[in-house]
Amino acid sequence: MNKNILVVGSGIGGLSAAIRLQNEGYAVTLLEKNSFLGGKTSNLSCNGFKFDLCATIPVIFDPYIELFKDINENIHDYIDISLIDPLYKVFFENNNSNYIFSSCIPKLTETISNIDNRDFKNYLSLISKSYIDFTEINNVFLKVPLTTNKDILKLKNIKTLINKDLDSTCYEYLKDNLKSELLINSLLFQSMYMGVSPYNTSSLFTILPLINYSTGMFFIRGGISSYIKSLVSIFKKRGGNIKINSEVTKFIFNNRTCIGVLLKNNEQLFSDIVVCNADVPYALENLLPKELNIKNKYNSANDFSCSSFIMHLVIDKRIPQLSIHNSIISENFKYNIEAPFNGYLQTNPHLYVYCPTRINKTGNYELITINLRVPNLLFNNVTWNNKTIYSLKNSIINTLEKHLKISNLQNYIKYEKYITPLDFLNAFNSYAGAGYGINHSFKNLLFFRPQCKIKGLNNLYFVGASTHPGAGVSIVLNSSKIAVSTINEDIKKQQ
Ligand SMILES: Cc1cc2nc3c(=O)[nH]c(=O)nc-3n(C[C@H](O)[C@H](O)[C@H](O)COP(=O)(O)OP(=O)(O)OC[C@H]3O[C@@H](n4cnc5c(N)ncnc54)[C@H](O)[C@@H]3O)c2cc1C
Repeated sequence: MNKNILVVGSGIGGLSAAIRLQNEGYAVTLLEKNSFLGGKTSNLSCNGFKFDLCATIPVIFDPYIELFKDINENIHDYIDISLIDPLYKVFFENNNSNYIFSSCIPKLTETISNIDNRDFKNYLSLISKSYIDFTEINNVFLKVPLTTNKDILKLKNIKTLINKDLDSTCYEYLKDNLKSELLINSLLFQSMYMGVSPYNTSSLFTILPLINYSTGMFFIRGGISSYIKSLVSIFKKRGGNIKINSEVTKFIFNNRTCIGVLLKNNEQLFSDIVVCNADVPYALENLLPKELNIKNKYNSANDFSCSSFIMHLVIDKRIPQLSIHNSIISENFKYNIEAPFNGYLQTNPHLYVYCPTRINKTGNYELITINLRVPNLLFNNVTWNNKTIYSLKNSIINTLEKHLKISNLQNYIKYEKYITPLDFLNAFNSYAGAGYGINHSFKNLLFFRPQCKIKGLNNLYFVGASTHPGAGVSIVLNSSKIAVSTINEDIKKQQ
């Protein structure tokens, strides 16, 4: 099996595909446009302090472990993993309170009862149902390609497998199952991990905030970027070839068969197979030769997820009020949740706040990352300049001061870095600067999402957040498993 394969892009999609292919015996070269590896799972250094650039929550941990098993390595030889509890802390502006959500059932029931006694049983039954639903969906749909008619026939399975209406939205589903508005809102906010609007996407996404009660929440010392580093070291150790600063500008085709890539410096690289981890809509529009006549149908604001404004702060003060994962749920809930999907900035922001130094201590400093959902760039309503950044920063600092009961937080900020949708566009070629790729509305899920290959094109495969099964590190890890098994099957058929 001496075929050689070029993988374009070193996000978690590209890197995991490269390492799986290498493990199958292919000669793999990884091409990355940037001078660093890992895409949205890389790290960012701020005066010597290291932050995970974007992804911070390893929501579903199995795929992280599965990749190591698939390549016959022991994950514990490379990274330090522990289970954390509580899972989350949630601050509510509505009643000016905060609550700890633990995976320890007696502690959790106490929290739920304190919020709303009527929901104690409802919440527990949502947890168990989410786990069952996830297990069934995972096995039937999230690890397999959905490209053939046979796959499409399986759609019937999913209807019978899951005892709930997939057509209902997260909001409709939670409203039917819980009484407390606070609990509903906190789960709606957390259902947005993949950049979806919980008022406009399948109730499937309510699984995300509930699954960790059953599986536990893992913490990787050094962050998700440490996981990436370990993959890079294995890939290199096994003889993988990595070329950074190597932007691909075109795929080279012979008729409808991909035979290599053209780099920005005009160098041509030829291969038996090309795997593309660059965002699908960007690749369709920019990397496929025009003669193939394949159009990008994803080009309007509503085709994409929202984006994020990220603040990374080094704070010269311990903040025990924070847990590792925190949500701040503000008033005017629906308006602010929907604002980024309607093209506007939130006026009273809901925030996700990550504070890894609660467990991974860094002297007297606290490192915090704040994720604020903002519109993707195709809405064209927000100008990303210093004025916008300054105003968002002030609004975020005010919100933090109020909930954490700290005055003059600004005075404790030692270093700060910001990431805007323009950074996603410019650094990673993320179409529309959308942080989570093509959106996960009903029309872009499962069979309707771009798959790992395009009908009628040979030897070109896709991995990453805009392909099936979707965004999120664990889910993208599944996309590389799907692409690699499809490549293996296609090669077998050719032999
Ligand atoms: C703010 C934010 C927070 C998030 N938080 C979480 C979280 O907590 N948990 C979670 O599981 N997920 C999270 N996600 C989602 C997760 O980070 C992404 O879904 C995932 O990392 C996407 O991986 P990818 O490989 O598809 O894409 P990317 O990481 O975008 O990788 C694509 C790579 O291709 C390279 N590339 C593009 N074009 C070219 C070219 N022409 N030539 C060569 N190279 C090219 C890019 O530079 C990049 O390295 C978050 C996302 C964002 C934006």
